[in-house]
Amino acid sequence: MKFSGFKVLKEGLTGNKGWTPHWRDPVPKSEYDVVIIGGGGHGLATAFYLAKEHGITNVAVLEKGYIGGGNVGRNTTIVRANYGLPGNSEFYSHSLKLWETMEQDLNYNVMHSQRGIINLFHSDGARDAAARRGNAMINQGDDAVLMDRDAVRQMLPYLDYDNIRYPIYGGLYHPRGGTARHDAVAWGLARGADQRGVDLIQNCEVTGIDITGGKVTGVQTKRGPIRAKKVAMIAAGRSGQVAALAGMRLPIESHVLQAFVTEGLKPCIDTVITFGMGHFYISQSDKGGLVFGGDLDFYASYAARGNLPGAEHVVEAAMTLMPMIGKAKVLRSWGGIMDMSPDGSPIIDKTHIDGLFLNCGWCYGGFKAVPGSGSAMAYLMATGNPHPAAEKLRMDRFRTGIGLMDEEGTGSQHNLH
Ligand SMILES: Cc1cc2nc3c(=O)[nH]c(=O)nc-3n(C[C@H](O)[C@H](O)[C@H](O)COP(=O)(O)OP(=O)(O)OC[C@H]3O[C@@H](n4cnc5c(N)ncnc54)[C@H](O)[C@@H]3O)c2cc1C
Repeated sequence: MKFSGFKVLKEGLTGNKGWTPHWRDPVPKSEYDVVIIGGGGHGLATAFYLAKEHGITNVAVLEKGYIGGGNVGRNTTIVRANYGLPGNSEFYSHSLKLWETMEQDLNYNVMHSQRGIINLFHSDGARDAAARRGNAMINQGDDAVLMDRDAVRQMLPYLDYDNIRYPIYGGLYHPRGGTARHDAVAWGLARGADQRGVDLIQNCEVTGIDITGGKVTGVQTKRGPIRAKKVAMIAAGRSGQVAALAGMRLPIESHVLQAFVTEGLKPCIDTVITFGMGHFYISQSDKGGLVFGGDLDFYASYAARGNLPGAEHVVEAAMTLMPMIGKAKVLRSWGGIMDMSPDGSPIIDKTHIDGLFLNCGWCYGGFKAVPGSGSAMAYLMATGNPHPAAEKLRMDRFRTGIGLMDEEGTGSQHNLH
């Protein structure tokens, strides 16, 4: 089924009877060339790019729950390439370029909206850091504009500029940043992978990883054993548990991150705003809800829900930055499980077990990484070599200390910053 304006019109006039399911519901085969554990954004994107770029289609994505039920459907949808450090900089730049062609690549409207993102700063020192980051972004080929207080005020007149603790000094603007519809990204990638022959197996929890003589041979699942030549662990917040099935202990802690959405309002915020000092960020969804969040709940957990102190911290920051938000009613809140790495940067790498690959450490920023991660992971699995944009995302940096990418300058425990 191909999407087009004509098809939408025709279905609208004929009772919408011609739409078919977006992907099949296949029975798992006994053997695949590649098994991917985790049907989130990264697992689906890996399957999609394995099929699209490398012609590897004898692939199964094994998902414990349902497609889109994990963080790929729980995030606040911000897409950006505003990283400063080598390693992250080229990787997120690569990812943003793939976002810009994703709708054509998938023939699917993922509502990617480059409405811009502005990171506020509140001191001279922070302005210097923003200028440095902006220069790094421009050197990488991405876009950045350093704005002074007046320019920010013209763009965002409703913020509190004279807050005694955090007066706004200006902002770093990234015009190509923005948002996308998270569910649509999962559905579009699932459909694209399925169309190319990938089997998407839902309700299929992986309970064991089979290893013989230092080589992976398959997985055990709640729907029976499946043999595989290569296995990828791409389980985001559950990465530690999945890797433990192969006897591995990862440098990952899982933490809860909450988000919130208000009732639908008339358009009032036409960009993404981040308030790093207060730990708050906000955008407006295409349905009108103000979508916002803040920091982690700061305790390790596998529960996909948050606690009230976290919620209180976020709404306090919201009121500090933009008091007008106090009039909006919060419709709902939710949580997701973050795979926090010690330096806040991800891992895309082989493991010491032949044929077993690892993709994790996305912290609270893995949605924007989805296409970059999928393409890099597929490249690594197909060729055995790291993708040029992901060469520095190696796991051994946590053993050797060489190549750590402490993007936010938070020290050795990013999860506690
Ligand atoms: C509240 C919130 C806000 C966020 N905001 C942003 C944002 O604005 N921008 C941004 O870039 N990022 C954001 N993120 C982070 C981003 O959502 C994640 O980093 C990213 O989605 C993680 O990758 P994924 O999509 O593959 O994860 P998931 O969708 O969680 O996929 C992992 C999948 O693995 C499955 N799985 C686990 N164990 C097993 C098993 N044993 N067998 C089979 N399957 C298994 C899970 O069921 C799950 O579906 C946010 C996250 C949250 C929670």
